Amino acid sequence: MKHQGFDTEAVHAGTEPDPLFGAVSVPIYQTSTFAFSSVDQGANRFAGTEDGYIYTRMGNPTVAALEEAVTSLEHGHGALATSSGMAAISNVFFAYLEAGAHMVGTDSVYGPSRVVVEKHFSRFGVESTFVDTSNPDNIRAALRPETTMLYIETPENPTIRLTDIAACAAIAQEHGLLFVVDNTFATPLLQRPLDLGADIVVHSMTKFINGHADVVAGIIVTSSKEQQARLRNALNHHGGCIDPHQAWLVHRGLRTLGLRVRQAQTSAIAIAEFLSQHPMVEWVRYPGSPDYPQRELAERQMAGPGAILCFGVKRGLEGGRRIMEAVKLATLAVSLGGVETLIEHPASMTHAGMKPQDREEAGISDNLIRLAVGCEDTEDLLADLAQALDTLH
Ligand code: PLP
Repeated sequence: MKHQGFDTEAVHAGTEPDPLFGAVSVPIYQTSTFAFSSVDQGANRFAGTEDGYIYTRMGNPTVAALEEAVTSLEHGHGALATSSGMAAISNVFFAYLEAGAHMVGTDSVYGPSRVVVEKHFSRFGVESTFVDTSNPDNIRAALRPETTMLYIETPENPTIRLTDIAACAAIAQEHGLLFVVDNTFATPLLQRPLDLGADIVVHSMTKFINGHADVVAGIIVTSSKEQQARLRNALNHHGGCIDPHQAWLVHRGLRTLGLRVRQAQTSAIAIAEFLSQHPMVEWVRYPGSPDYPQRELAERQMAGPGAILCFGVKRGLEGGRRIMEAVKLATLAVSLGGVETLIEHPASMTHAGMKPQDREEAGISDNLIRLAVGCEDTEDLLADLAQALDTLH
């Protein structure tokens, strides 16, 4: 299929004028069920011999418009919107992991994506190994005859480490694995895993796709008719469907995805440069920085370095806590991808439950601060960080 520019597709995909009244904005079909004109029509829809809607858990026109838009941006075959990112991820596992199967995943994936396999799917006989997938040799070493899935996240959170998607696709193809990529951090503006050989993409649309920190939602993007049918069937039974109003809000946010990510990225580039020269900053990790260790890979698989960076301040844990308390514009909160800049300190917040040694081994040092840059003016963000860093002197 021939694609138009990213912003053109973000604005137009899935938004044909409404056939009833010509509404330019997609109507919100806030209904749980759809009336049939006859018994035969109902029977045909259930049999799949006639197109049309039955019940919103199984499909809804407002939801379908959002699914069409994300399919288009990710260069997919189809998509299934879900009530959260975790509903998307767990539905993929639900649809594909059989008793006795083994999966290999990135060790520092979003915590619950790992917990759902290690704690819940293990009860049904699914085994898993999580490794540092930034080195493809670790993936090969973890494979077993019963491995059926490779699940990665790149860039990883909060360490901003990358995994080579094309290298993973080659391993998956060689060993007949289903290859799934969580593309939440990069967004389809900066990275298209399906074009690089992935089978399935998942997103927490709570983040950049919706972009306004006001909705929790997810999506699965498929690359074939068979996957779409299998995941649709699983989702109908799993039940993690999205509500039409939630879908409409996400679709509204998605229409400015390119504008928002580009603006945030422009600021992130300037912030990374400013931090790397600041005397109270020990290190900066950002794919756009000249000393970023995976710079070649970042340039090969991403169309830009993105809007998330992490840095280490002097004075360790105490220094990190001080910055959190001193910032005035950046909001102290977890999550990312909204129009407002969020700042968090994993050692005292999201990863405080881990043993200090485990944190250190995972690359999450006590002084690590994660900044999810939003759409404010670059100068104001720089001024806020400068005054916060001044308090460390
Ligand atoms: N994947 C990534 C990379 C995330 O950061 C998150 C949430 O933080 C999720 C998945 C889960 O998404 P949700 O919170 O929408 O369930």
